[in-house]
Amino acid sequence: MGRQTSAIVEQSLRMLLENNTILPQLDGTKREQAFQSLGAILSTPNKMHKAFLRITLDSGVVVRIPAYRIQHNDALGPYKGGIRFHETVNEDEVTNLAALMTLKNALHDVPFGGGKGGVSISPRQFSERELYMICKKYVQYFSDILGPDKDIPAPDMGTGEREMDWMTAEYKSIHPGKPYLGSFTGKSISCGGSLGRREATGKGVYFSFRYVLDYVNEHLSLLDLHQNPYVETAKKYMNKPLSLAIQGFGNVGSVIAAEAFREGKHRVVAVSDRNVTLYQEQGLPIDKLINYCQLHQGELPANEEQLQLADVKAEVLDREAVLYSDVDVLFLAALEEQLRVDNIHNVKANVIVEGANAPITGEADEVLAQRQAIVIPDILANAGGVIVSYFEWLQGKDTRFFSEEQVYELLYDKMKTTLDQVLPYYFRTPQQLRQCCYNHAVTRLSNILYRQGKLY
Ligand code: GLU
Repeated sequence: MGRQTSAIVEQSLRMLLENNTILPQLDGTKREQAFQSLGAILSTPNKMHKAFLRITLDSGVVVRIPAYRIQHNDALGPYKGGIRFHETVNEDEVTNLAALMTLKNALHDVPFGGGKGGVSISPRQFSERELYMICKKYVQYFSDILGPDKDIPAPDMGTGEREMDWMTAEYKSIHPGKPYLGSFTGKSISCGGSLGRREATGKGVYFSFRYVLDYVNEHLSLLDLHQNPYVETAKKYMNKPLSLAIQGFGNVGSVIAAEAFREGKHRVVAVSDRNVTLYQEQGLPIDKLINYCQLHQGELPANEEQLQLADVKAEVLDREAVLYSDVDVLFLAALEEQLRVDNIHNVKANVIVEGANAPITGEADEVLAQRQAIVIPDILANAGGVIVSYFEWLQGKDTRFFSEEQVYELLYDKMKTTLDQVLPYYFRTPQQLRQCCYNHAVTRLSNILYRQGKLY
C-alpha cells in the first residue's frame, strides 16, 4: 500500500480503536490484537502477479513489457479494479491503486474486493495491432487468476471499451463454454456492456460535488450548531453560481464539464489536457470543445487556428495553468500527484474534487486541511465507474439489461446512500472528508473480516 493510503488507514484504525466504534464485542488484549491483524491485512495485498508480456512489434522486433495484476483484498467479493496502460505504471503504484479499490468498494457497499492491473507502456506509441496483442497476452498470462467470480478487471487510464472487448474475447476462447460476460466490465454495448458505464465516473463526480454543497444548504440550521470549519467553507459556495476548472478532458473530465454545462448553473472557466489549458472567464462552450475533441483524437484545440476551427474563443495557457486558475472549484481528472507540497500554495480553489485516483499527495492534503478547503476524495467521488461496473456484472449474469435512465437512477441512489452516511459525520467533526470515508470503509471491512474469522 502506498505511504499515503496506509497512513490514512493507520489513522483510521487508531481513531476507531479509541472511540470503541468497531469490534466493541472484543475487549482488552483481544481487541488490540484484532486491530493489529486488521492493520496487517489492509496494508498488504493478498497476491501480487507480475509478468513480462512477449510482444512482436510491427517492425518484427520482440519486446518484453512489464504487466501487473495486484489482488489486494477479497473479503467483500471477487477482486475488482481497472487495468491501466501508462508509461509510469510500476508495482508500487498498482499496489496502492488496488488498496484504494478495496476501500472504495467497501465505502460504497459494492460486493467486490479490490484489485488493479497495469501495463507499463505509453499506448499512443503502439499501433492498434500491437495494442491488441498486448491485451490478448495480458489475458493469456493472467488467465488462471481472472474470472467473473475471481477477479474482474475494467478500464482505467489508457484503456477503454475496445481493450475490454478484446480481453473478454480472449478470456472466452481460453475458457470455452464458461460464463464470460462478467469476466470484464466496461465493455462496449454491443459486446454486453452497460448503458451509462462510459459516463458513470464523470457523472458520479459531478453528482458528489453538487450533493455536498446541497447537503449543507439543506441542513444548515442543524449543522450551524457544531461550528464546523468545513460548514463555514461550504457556506461561501452554496446557493450561487460558481466558477469551475477541470484538469483532464478525457473520459472523466469531459463528462464532468458536460454535466456542468448541461446543468447551466455554474461556469466552466478552465479545462485542460496533456497539451494546454483553455481559459474563458465567461465560461467555455463545452459542447463545441467536445465536438472538436471527437474529431481530433480526443485533443483540445491548442492554438488560435485550432480554436477558430472549433469556433471557440479562449485564452491558451500551459497545461499546468488549470491548477492555479482563480476559481471556486477545481476538479482533478487527470493523473496522480498533481497537487504536491511544491505547488499547493499556488492553488486558489477551496473546493477540490478528485475525479482521478490519488491526485493529491499527503503533504498537500494537510495544507488544504489547514486552509479548511473541502476535498471530496477519490474513493467517494469517482466510484461511479466501479458502481456501474457492478451493475454491468449483474446484467451480464442475468443477460437482462437496464435502460440508461435506470442505470443513472441506481448509480445516484447508491452514491446518495454513502454520502448520507459520511456527511453528517464530516460536518460535525474536524476530520477531513477523506478520513471520514476511510473510517467508514475500514469499519465495514473490519466487521466482515472479523465475522469471516480472519482476525485471529
Ligand atoms: N478504474 C476505475 C476505478 O478506478 C473503475 C474500476 C472498475 O470499474 O472496476 O475506480
